[in-house]
Amino acid sequence: MSELRWNAHLGEWTMTSSVRMERTFLPPADFCPLCPTLPGAFETEIPEPDFDLVVFENRFPSLFDPAPEPAVPATPLAPVRPSHGRCEVVVYTPQHRGSFGELPLDRLFRLALVWQDRYRELGALDFVDYVLIFENRGREVGVTLDHPHGQIYAFPYVPPIPERELQLAAEYHARTGACLTCALLAEELADGSRLVRENDHFVTYIPFAARYPYETIVVPRACRPSLGEMDDPELCSLAEMLKSVALGYDALFDLPLPYMMIFHQAPTDGRTWPGAHFHVEFHPLQRAANKLKYRASVESGAGSFINDSLPEEKTPELRAAIQRALS
Ligand SMILES: [Zn+2]
Ligand SMILES: [Zn+2]
Ligand SMILES: [Zn+2]
Repeated sequence: MSELRWNAHLGEWTMTSSVRMERTFLPPADFCPLCPTLPGAFETEIPEPDFDLVVFENRFPSLFDPAPEPAVPATPLAPVRPSHGRCEVVVYTPQHRGSFGELPLDRLFRLALVWQDRYRELGALDFVDYVLIFENRGREVGVTLDHPHGQIYAFPYVPPIPERELQLAAEYHARTGACLTCALLAEELADGSRLVRENDHFVTYIPFAARYPYETIVVPRACRPSLGEMDDPELCSLAEMLKSVALGYDALFDLPLPYMMIFHQAPTDGRTWPGAHFHVEFHPLQRAANKLKYRASVESGAGSFINDSLPEEKTPELRAAIQRALS
């Protein structure tokens, strides 16, 4: 059973999906569903002896195509709609062990081409308003399969966090005629104290009001609303930047750092969103070698984050970790 239930208190949808209770939970390496299917062995999700990159529909989705009819009746205060969308799994490599950051650059460039393709193809579906590309990394953020992979959710609505960002960007655009993300990037480049890394087409910095001690945002220098507008040199530059940041995170405390990597870009709902500027956000959970940052009552219940460190102090640490990782 699955449907979208309206949360009237918050003005947002909750996706219900009871099939997800059944999903494969931390199988042993020889029963990994994301590995190639070996001759004579059990059939994985990928019935091939080898592959490069693979995208397939999640067998335990939160959004469905076609979507089942909602199993509960709606009321005026509690609207319900079908959870019509797509959930895809992107397997980065046939190798079971490893991580996003350790993958060679040419593979990551092909992965960026896959992301671009999925953004365009899913975004072109008439029921898809927003394509969310993301990776949950580490069991601490709820990963149930260790094999390096990411996910894509194609939503039938614009989810609340990107919607809020986009609304603020649109208001700024209406007031000034300029792009808020471009303006923030210009300030960060001029200030320099939170700049983590730059390459040809992308800049990474710890946001001024970062919620997590090592939170970063990866922003294209050119004002690109989405992956859809990027050319190959930009996608290659994006791959190089994400790889460096991911390797830097692992070098920080010499452990595979749990993080969420989230792509924010222009919706595909047919409306124009002035001020939409593609970016990738990393939300790493670690605040020290043996301490995790949790979303506790104040964060979860009030929506206000407490960052117990200063972004300007964490920036040199992260910069140095990336340098160590790349040297
Ligand atoms: Zn595997
Ligand atoms: Zn911009
Ligand atoms: Zn964002």
